[in-house]
Amino acid sequence: MSQKHKHVCSFCGRDVENGSAGKVIAGIDDSLICEHCVEVCSEMLSGGKKNKKAAAAAAGDISGKAAELIRNLKVPAPAEIKAELDKYVIGQEDAKKVLAVAVHNHYRRLQSKIEKPAENDEFAGVELEKSNVLLMGPTGSGKTLLARTLAKMLDVPFCICDATTLTEAGYVGEDVENIILRLVQNADYDIAKAQIGIIYVDEIDKIARKTENVSITRDVSGEGVQQALLKILEGTVANIPPKGGRKHPEQEYLHVDTSNILFIAGGAFVGLEKIVQRRVGKQVLGFKNLTEDGRAETMALEAEAAAAAAAKPEPEDLVRFGLIPEFIGRMPVVVDLGKLSADDLKRILAEPKNALIKQYQKLLSMNNVALEFTDDAIAELAAMAEKKGTGARGLRSLMETLMLDVMYQLPAPGVDKCVINGAAVRGESKVKLTKCRSTRRK
Ligand code: ADP
Repeated sequence: MSQKHKHVCSFCGRDVENGSAGKVIAGIDDSLICEHCVEVCSEMLSGGKKNKKAAAAAAGDISGKAAELIRNLKVPAPAEIKAELDKYVIGQEDAKKVLAVAVHNHYRRLQSKIEKPAENDEFAGVELEKSNVLLMGPTGSGKTLLARTLAKMLDVPFCICDATTLTEAGYVGEDVENIILRLVQNADYDIAKAQIGIIYVDEIDKIARKTENVSITRDVSGEGVQQALLKILEGTVANIPPKGGRKHPEQEYLHVDTSNILFIAGGAFVGLEKIVQRRVGKQVLGFKNLTEDGRAETMALEAEAAAAAAAKPEPEDLVRFGLIPEFIGRMPVVVDLGKLSADDLKRILAEPKNALIKQYQKLLSMNNVALEFTDDAIAELAAMAEKKGTGARGLRSLMETLMLDVMYQLPAPGVDKCVINGAAVRGESKVKLTKCRSTRRK
């Protein structure tokens, strides 16, 4: 027993004798824990229950500024949301439709909480549940773009966080609450505004449990994080250190109710299709074994291949992938984004409101140069990006490389036109910078 243990809390170092530690409890080795630390421990351990109570009290209790914000929120009809998404996101038609409905319903649900029910309302007392969204799709297919565009359209705070940086409270890494902090910061510390924001959690597939079997060692970066995320997904009053980092006893916390925040989680879920195919394959296999003549067998094989290709992931597949059932339960809207085709990539180059080609056209116009891409240049860029396998992300790096030389040469005296063709994209010829307009005018 050290002398030190007699006088200070062994956890935070508060002094017992000057009274700053308050009441203390002694352990068998004479270590001490003060009332402040007991409170923090109790919050950490039973936080779920306590917070659930607080959340239950807060749920439906939208008042003051928050109510005002929600009342003034213009919630477009799903078709209008989809039309706006169309301006920025190419392809992914199913995803846009499902998201438009989910987001519309989410904000209408909030408005229903503050609307007074009509006297003879047959649905009085029916509570609408929150529909967080899970976006599954390969990298560069537009998951983040969809979430970001939605938040911008609705003019609500938005933040992106990466699930791989999170760990269970108390372990090395970021506490889950820090993602709420980021939203609060993006709302300029306006808590009421943050409470109706959207959080995009990227790389959600990376916090899958590593094995299907329950491990005897704690899985702090996988299942532990899913457990920690559960609370904020379903709605809790989260205590957030205003400057981030670890919680400590002396700190003042921001109290943020997460029950009205919309969570959109995204991930590539590499390997999930194999799990789906195995499940579907098994079902078809049963039928195949029943058939005896060769012809029926080939038909069964064809049916198997088609069914496997078309099959959509079911919750059981996600469990097998490593998400815990409670977590899947909190993400009732699941959207499967497909890989972008070469045709989609072609359109992405030119069509969206801030398409890459438009961005470079704007840049070059500052030097009074008109930029033009021939059809075969666009097709070539799309084909090259498709080969890279990083979706639309590949387009940007290709364009950067392609345009570097051109931009380096500008401004050039008299040059007012730049045409990029397929050969230039393939690196077979140099990009043509011409002086047509100025020479013709002279
Ligand atoms: P991820 O699916 O990995 O979240 P992002 O949404 O971050 O992909 O896409 C990366 C970039 O690629 C975006 O900033 C956007 O410019 C472009 N992009 C991706 N998908 C699309 C799409 N479907 N339509 C238009 N642009 C897209």
